[in-house]
Amino acid sequence: APYRSADVHELLDSTLLMLSGKIGPRIKVVKEYDRTLPDVPAHPAELNQVWTNLIDNAVSAMDSAGGEGTLTVRTARVHDRLLVEFRDTGPGVPAEIRDRIFDPFFTTKPVGEGTGLGLDISWRIVVNKHHGALQVDSRPGDTRFQVLLPLTAAAP
Ligand code: ADP
Ligand code: MG
Repeated sequence: APYRSADVHELLDSTLLMLSGKIGPRIKVVKEYDRTLPDVPAHPAELNQVWTNLIDNAVSAMDSAGGEGTLTVRTARVHDRLLVEFRDTGPGVPAEIRDRIFDPFFTTKPVGEGTGLGLDISWRIVVNKHHGALQVDSRPGDTRFQVLLPLTAAAP
């Protein structure tokens, strides 16, 4: 499908609204949006899928550690790319599994709760289809999944 122009903040807000039941009252959501950022060339429904996966993971991580915490969604311009960062205050990604979390079917969740496909699908959408980057920086209490999207479409 051809790229459309996507307003990332509008997409983030609609995904957060859709997930508000799962997020629940014990998790605080903080939006740190740079509203001066332009639209990006992207498939809106696919970006929503990425936001859904990353928010779902952040909420699950905080749920597994008492159910309280803060989810911070930040946008910023980084050189010629738009950054969307999902930050949670959960237990973090243990160093020994950091290299495997993007693999298909890798999950640490109980059978029936996780498919292990969320990060694999997100990687394919961000990196393969949008020529962006997906990276993680994690320590206990401060985990950041970062999506970087080109602000201009790649030449055909
Ligand atoms: P699933 O959510 O079905 O387990 P994912 O591909 O979305 O599959 O995530 C793979 C694994 O990465 C998770 O099972 C978990 O161990 C780890 N992970 C992902 N996001 C986080 C996070 N925010 N905090 C801690 N661990 C995470
Ligand atoms: Mg997941």
